[in-house]
Amino acid sequence: MNREPDNLSSYERPFIVPVFLPNIGCPHKCVFCNQSAITGVKQKIPSSEEIGLQINRFLNYKGRNRSLVQISFFGGNFLGLKIDFIKSLLREATKFVIEGRVDSIRFSTRPDTIDYERLDILEEFPVATVEIGVQSMDDKVLCLAGRGHTSSDTEKAVSILKERNYEIGLQMMIGLPGDDGSMSLYSAKKIAALSPDFVRIYPTLVLKNSILSGWYKEGKYTPLSLKKSVTLAKDIYLIFKEKKIRVIRMGIQASEHFERETTILAGPYHPAFGHLVHSEIFLDMASSIIESEGIDSCDSVEIKVHPRSVSKIRGIKNFNVKILKEMFNIKSLEIIPHHSLAEDAIIINA
Ligand code: SF4
Repeated sequence: MNREPDNLSSYERPFIVPVFLPNIGCPHKCVFCNQSAITGVKQKIPSSEEIGLQINRFLNYKGRNRSLVQISFFGGNFLGLKIDFIKSLLREATKFVIEGRVDSIRFSTRPDTIDYERLDILEEFPVATVEIGVQSMDDKVLCLAGRGHTSSDTEKAVSILKERNYEIGLQMMIGLPGDDGSMSLYSAKKIAALSPDFVRIYPTLVLKNSILSGWYKEGKYTPLSLKKSVTLAKDIYLIFKEKKIRVIRMGIQASEHFERETTILAGPYHPAFGHLVHSEIFLDMASSIIESEGIDSCDSVEIKVHPRSVSKIRGIKNFNVKILKEMFNIKSLEIIPHHSLAEDAIIINA
């Protein structure tokens, strides 16, 4: 039996040259954020010249096979920066595009910073991709999170970006205060209806020095468990997959700007969060095929998947294999890599 959902894995990921911009002068106090706006600790903003050197260094890591290279300004509210600073950053990045070492520029920003005036600034620069921190499409959840914008700001921002033909990425969060999961599913559907080019899904973590950390200590906020957040992210992933929208990231990436031990107080952090989600999807697929085929109490079952999906069907520490054997009373279950299968396909023979 073969199950082959739509394959979005053929997409070639660009090589990203990351430029982290800690927020300065952010007028907002999102409850989950621990940026300097809340802690009062000023983070050093690199000059555009320093950023140029940083980009140059990073480009030396680039493998030969990557066709698309993008410089990515992330970590904050790009279009909320001072206009002169935005221009100087874009000018610095554009030099690498002119030299032919980079193809284009991308950045992340808040939905309420996107308007015609600010997009006019971008016109003379090779910006290709804009990512928006949507977080939720439920206005009550946005209000509780202290976001200071509404879902209609996101709708307007996407519509303006589409008029100007930017590639659009939308970021959403699960487990925000006031969201029992149903608002996340609602948000995913609303986001999918906006037809972005890609999305990211982040579970809410309780970061030290955030407003949320105070609520957590007072017992006013309980983060999602890892198990619940994986299952919720899976359901949301499948909503986007059905609409053929790429999910390019699930879970926060540990990085030099994000040290787990010093930053996270509580919440569903896992270094391989996305892998957990994919493993659960493969477990669901395998168990539903085995069930529908009436495979039970077999001596030997083989599951064929693409070589890149072997770890997903196995699960962490062979979790899926153990569960399937127990659930269906299977004596021997073998996972066989099969090159001709799509990465999200599965074939089961008993
Ligand atoms: S998450 Fe909110 S508070 Fe933090 S930098 Fe972004 S907009 Fe500002």
